[in-house]
Amino acid sequence: FAALEAFDPDIAGVLTAELGRIRGGLQLIASENLSSPEVLTALGSTLSNKYAEGYPGRRYYGGCAEVDVAENLAIERCKALFGADHANVQPHSGASANQAVYGAFLKPGETILAMSLPHGGHLTHGTKVSFSGKWFDAVHYGVDKDTEDVDYDEVERLAKEHRPKVILAGGSAIPRQIDFARFRAIADEVGAVFWVDAAHFIGLVAGKAIPSPVPHADVVSFTTHKVLRGPRSGAIVCREEHRAAIDKAVFPMMQGGPQMHTIAAKAVNFKECATPEYAAYTEQVVTNARALAAALGEKGIRPTTGGTDTHLSLHDLQGVGVTGVDAEARSDAAGITLNKNAIPFDPQKPNIASGIRVGTPCVTTQGMGEEQMQRIGELIARAVVDGDADPEHAVSREVRAGVTELVEAFPAYPRPA
Ligand code: PLP
Repeated sequence: FAALEAFDPDIAGVLTAELGRIRGGLQLIASENLSSPEVLTALGSTLSNKYAEGYPGRRYYGGCAEVDVAENLAIERCKALFGADHANVQPHSGASANQAVYGAFLKPGETILAMSLPHGGHLTHGTKVSFSGKWFDAVHYGVDKDTEDVDYDEVERLAKEHRPKVILAGGSAIPRQIDFARFRAIADEVGAVFWVDAAHFIGLVAGKAIPSPVPHADVVSFTTHKVLRGPRSGAIVCREEHRAAIDKAVFPMMQGGPQMHTIAAKAVNFKECATPEYAAYTEQVVTNARALAAALGEKGIRPTTGGTDTHLSLHDLQGVGVTGVDAEARSDAAGITLNKNAIPFDPQKPNIASGIRVGTPCVTTQGMGEEQMQRIGELIARAVVDGDADPEHAVSREVRAGVTELVEAFPAYPRPA
């Protein structure tokens, strides 16, 4: 770090300031986490220099003996972790992994049935602004008005009506356990491929805190940087019969050279995921999410679906008369990072939103438990209901003092003693 500081103090300053930001506040973005120093070491390594188009043992470049070892380890560890027939660890991100799944199973113009973005899906699940909605015919299901959970009857009705080539489960704001067996049965009924985008919750599956989609799905795509706690990247696991289609779709259809430093970091992460400590962490992530959802609910910030089974909860702010955009700004001013989020049947535009989404991966990684979740719920409620977007406002200062107490007791990236 000293060399970077000397050569480029501007960028060194950004790195230092970002570490300070992480350490100084509460990180409650449901899709973020704090990777281990070991994962970060692999990411910042000379493996970044290597071109390795192709797959281990079948490369288009020389000098790949060492990176082949890393990729083979990543593949084998990933397969073992999820009990999968095949793993492709080359996707650069969740969106790249999803692109490859489209490439493997669909031709332009063919139909996919997926969760709608306003009800908790993802941009890459057929929205008009994404390649997925421009090149494919996307039909969307949503949540049930009463339960606010996936409307499985609607999935079945739309599947029979549109006969999609692929049915996709998963999304970015789904607090409840998805019924993979029900999806599988619907896919079988209409002869569709069943795809799960497990980006958000795959870490909980890795730690066995929630049931796995792998036995049910033809293909499972995911990011590696959310609950899973690996590097910022993606991966795909699939049944043996789809191996060739997935591998060809990742490379050469969608990507060029794989990022070998990131693949090495994924291998390190998959090894971490197989430890008892990791399993305990994932259980605590869910326990904490339930506790935080309940604590916010007690303050009138209602969790949709009544709570959560996973690492995130979605909250309806209409009861306290605050918009999502204001809640995000007030929290930010008080040292709490979370995001505004549309809630199902939201009367507000997406850039205003009536909700917030909170997640527990980071604070759990820092060692916090249910007692701290209760306190975080109180702090968020105070900032959101009584606070202000001005960091110098009295309530912002008061809440920030509470945040500081918590992050000093449970530091992110603790300094060596
Ligand atoms: N799929 C889901 C369900 C996601 O939540 C996300 C990211 O938030 C992605 C895909 C895209 O991942 P990335 O940002 O790595 O492209």
